[in-house]
Amino acid sequence: MQIAKSWRRQPSNLRLEGTRCTGCGQLEFPTVIRCAQCGEIEFETYQFAGKGKVIVASTVYEATRDFGEHVPYCAAIIELEEGIHLATMITDVDPADVTVGMEVEMVTRRIAAQGDNGPILYAYKFAPQLQIL
Ligand SMILES: [Zn+2]
Repeated sequence: MQIAKSWRRQPSNLRLEGTRCTGCGQLEFPTVIRCAQCGEIEFETYQFAGKGKVIVASTVYEATRDFGEHVPYCAAIIELEEGIHLATMITDVDPADVTVGMEVEMVTRRIAAQGDNGPILYAYKFAPQLQIL
């Protein structure tokens, strides 16, 4: 992903900020410009809690240049507590240990960099939720 494009997406990339439709209440992530449920074009900002569970996961051994530094990594679809599904990378755990149903939470991590001296892009990934005993 280009750095300039990611800069525009900072609220969603760093804070998991989406939208709630003012017409029907539908939540969306990432943001949309027209509600798929009712056609409304007015939205309010919605802050997702950043917790969810893995619904499908796969280990990636070969990736595009942008993600090559992360291999092998776990690519997953998760379901947020609010019901939204999103694609993400699971971090802070061996990819082989990621299981369907695993409870995860959003963390901010390095995604890519432009060259050795260029800007570094940070964005959300998800990590296993810490269990408080
Ligand atoms: Zn709507």
